[in-house]
Amino acid sequence: DLFYRQIPKVELHAHLNGSVSFATMEKLIARKPHLNIESSGTAIRSGQRRTLAECFEVFKVIHQLVDSEEDILMVAKSVIEEFAADGVKYLELRSTPREEAKTGLSKRRYIETVLEAIHQCKQEGVDIDVRFLVAVDRRNGPEVAMETVKLTEDFMLSSDGVVVGLDLSGDPTVGHGKDLLPALQRARNSGLKLALHMSEVPSQKEESELLLDLPPDRIGHGTFLHPEAGGSDSLVDKISKLNIPLELCLTSNVKGQTVPSYDKHHFQYWYERQHPCVLCTDDKGVFCTDLSQEYQLTASTFGLSQEAVWSLSLQAIHCSFAPEALKQKLVQRWAELRPHIL
Ligand code: 5GP
Repeated sequence: DLFYRQIPKVELHAHLNGSVSFATMEKLIARKPHLNIESSGTAIRSGQRRTLAECFEVFKVIHQLVDSEEDILMVAKSVIEEFAADGVKYLELRSTPREEAKTGLSKRRYIETVLEAIHQCKQEGVDIDVRFLVAVDRRNGPEVAMETVKLTEDFMLSSDGVVVGLDLSGDPTVGHGKDLLPALQRARNSGLKLALHMSEVPSQKEESELLLDLPPDRIGHGTFLHPEAGGSDSLVDKISKLNIPLELCLTSNVKGQTVPSYDKHHFQYWYERQHPCVLCTDDKGVFCTDLSQEYQLTASTFGLSQEAVWSLSLQAIHCSFAPEALKQKLVQRWAELRPHIL
């Protein structure tokens, strides 16, 4: 439907390597024929389901394909251009810096290369503002987390405001958030915004309670926070009082089987409580979606009017980590576009 493509959108939860499109994936595969990877193995198509564990296996395959500065530059530029082509006007991209002995890639160069891609897109006039969140993969433990926070602090000072925060992601069944608290606390004290994956699986209740004491600036997924899903009233109360926005990714959660069907998605619970909810793609490449499709899917599943959909996209501006001046600029842009669309 044209309406969903046309509305200006804000994407706040997009993992770089999960967002690689089919077309870019084919190019990467052609560059590395010796890996013998098939493009069908890096995407979960319509109607297909995978367990969350299988999704994390997919990321390992993609990481084999994206292991040099050249790859990262190409992937990041394409992902930014694709979001812009889908009507995303403001994007917060996140990615886990990796070092790769084979190609001489360091974590610092990894981040610099993503920033170079953002810079080049801006130079080329791509109609999108991009910010970057450095991701901590929980699987790598507390030392790596602390090292990543220190690296991110350097970039916060040197990136002209492009690096705005820290993400916590990776396999939720591995490790415990309490071990990562010192690193997250430090990040918070240095002025980095925190976007944390929370309660993606039922066993994370205690961890979510700990993480909420930081508190995070945004919550990724939060599938099992509310009492009906095995969470608790106290979790919901804290999140409501602090008004912490939720980043919700319908296709990702259904295809990754943490939510049984679209109509059972926790979007409904939080939306009814008028809690700030931001629709996001998570991994548009792996889950074969885009942000327009996520908006359309949510509208059709929960019967949202076009007016309600517009409000969701407008509200997302205020949930972003953009500086106040940029938020105002985006609000203005939305106001200018509105009469042409609604
Ligand atoms: P990258 O950080 O390499 O750019 O993007 C892929 C990584 O993002 C994965 O290895 C994983 O750490 C994280 N990621 C992507 N999707 C999800 C998700 O749905 N849940 C969690 N917890 N982590 C994810």
